[in-house]
Amino acid sequence: MTPKPGIAQTVDAIVVGMGAGGEHVATRLAEAGLSVIGVEARLVGGECPYYACVPTKMMVRAANCLAEARRVDQLAGSATPRPDWSPVAARIREEATDDWDDTAAVERFEKSGGRFIRGWGRITGPGEVTVTTATGPLALRADRAIVLNPGTAPTIPPIPGLVDTPYWTNRDAVAATTVPESLIVIGGGPVACELSQVFARFGAQVTMLVRSSLLPRDEPEAGELIADVFTAEGVTVRTGASAGAVEYDGQRFTVYPEGGEPLRSRRLLIATGRHTDLAALGVAAVGLDDAVPTIAVDDRMRAADGVWAIGDVTGRGAFTHMSMYEARIAVDDILRRPTEPADDRAVPRVTFTDPEVGSVGLTEAAADSAGIPVLIGRSAIPQSARGWIHKAGNEGFIKLVADPESGVLVGATSVGPAGGEVLAVLTLAVHARVPIRTLKQMIYAYPAFHRAIETALENLG
Ligand SMILES: Cc1cc2nc3c(=O)[nH]c(=O)nc-3n(C[C@H](O)[C@H](O)[C@H](O)COP(=O)(O)OP(=O)(O)OC[C@H]3O[C@@H](n4cnc5c(N)ncnc54)[C@H](O)[C@@H]3O)c2cc1C
Repeated sequence: MTPKPGIAQTVDAIVVGMGAGGEHVATRLAEAGLSVIGVEARLVGGECPYYACVPTKMMVRAANCLAEARRVDQLAGSATPRPDWSPVAARIREEATDDWDDTAAVERFEKSGGRFIRGWGRITGPGEVTVTTATGPLALRADRAIVLNPGTAPTIPPIPGLVDTPYWTNRDAVAATTVPESLIVIGGGPVACELSQVFARFGAQVTMLVRSSLLPRDEPEAGELIADVFTAEGVTVRTGASAGAVEYDGQRFTVYPEGGEPLRSRRLLIATGRHTDLAALGVAAVGLDDAVPTIAVDDRMRAADGVWAIGDVTGRGAFTHMSMYEARIAVDDILRRPTEPADDRAVPRVTFTDPEVGSVGLTEAAADSAGIPVLIGRSAIPQSARGWIHKAGNEGFIKLVADPESGVLVGATSVGPAGGEVLAVLTLAVHARVPIRTLKQMIYAYPAFHRAIETALENLG
């Protein structure tokens, strides 16, 4: 194809940002025979394999091993684990991230027929992307599709004194080669909770400063239970607390909570959410608002004429499974294949604390604000047969949010030792609108953790 003046190359599709979803789209479109350019500023695969899901779950797995060993005394004799971070750090480097090297991922994409460009992509006009590379700008044209998968970056709150300190975000925490003797964590969402518990189980003295409550997007009972578990494990959880200022003296951080005594620690982790930068992505060039945090898409992931957006940037659920789900829909739409429209009613979310917190659909409060008069059903894991047998580490509950008018579940929470796995049944129920009477007739294996769902169904009222 002859390039237009000023345009270095014209292709069918350009994918800007190759997170989980972007990599999938770029690869599938190339495999389908389209000419595709994938643009990535950092690492192909995005946050999940290098800084997020995969390394943090390796950390969680190791920390849970320690916790189980500490439960031996209650159930099976005696054991005194000696925590050692080096196998975790080695596993993250060698097995998860290839020492933060994406050569294999780039080669995989190129083998599918795509062209890879390392650099920062920006939309500079309808169908046009300019990539800032190490050797200068490169103007490209996409005849059929521009797909945006830029993900998010850690939000750094404007706390006086913070900016010039060596604070950690999730990216530094997963790269840690040693466990700090003390750690202050600012934030109370899933990332803050998972990392707090991990480092505490490896011996760090952890203090969490949480503006509202733990896991504020989940049912309040979940955050309360996790706060109790954390406190019992020695984590100091200070809810309703904000950091007023931060100092670093070259060795230690001092955090001044608003209206509280100063706190000191060797490390400070900022886990206060994520943000996007739509202006830097140039979305205004295709008529999109660049002053908002997310790109609005329709149920085919279309954001503007010839532009699709997928992943965290759409604001429909900042999870790898959502990025992949949206990627599949975008691929079908770009290839003009029939596809089911995106349906966000049953987005599952799991926080991999111990116990795990899984939830799907609406919380009780969200249903209330949507004007759905709901019935609530609950059961407690320690009082279920399996929870009682499990004993040490059996904290958890099932909470069901049911719409009596339609006779289906519109939301559910599953907290427990296998809370994320038990969630699968509840996700199916919400996704497929399985009638509650059918769920009540189902046979639940004894004494599996998921039998607590049956009890919660009986308790709906
Ligand atoms: C600590 C942590 C733990 C998590 N754990 C889980 C979990 O257990 N399960 C789960 O489902 N989710 C988890 N998440 C969320 C998950 O990481 C994201 O939802 C997932 O990475 C999908 O993001 P994405 O596809 O939108 O893009 P990302 O993975 O963020 O990738 C976007 C890519 O685009 C690149 N980019 C951005 N702008 C440009 C540009 N203009 N030009 C070129 N390149 C650009 C970036 O460099 C990046 O590599 C976790 C997140 C964090 C922070």
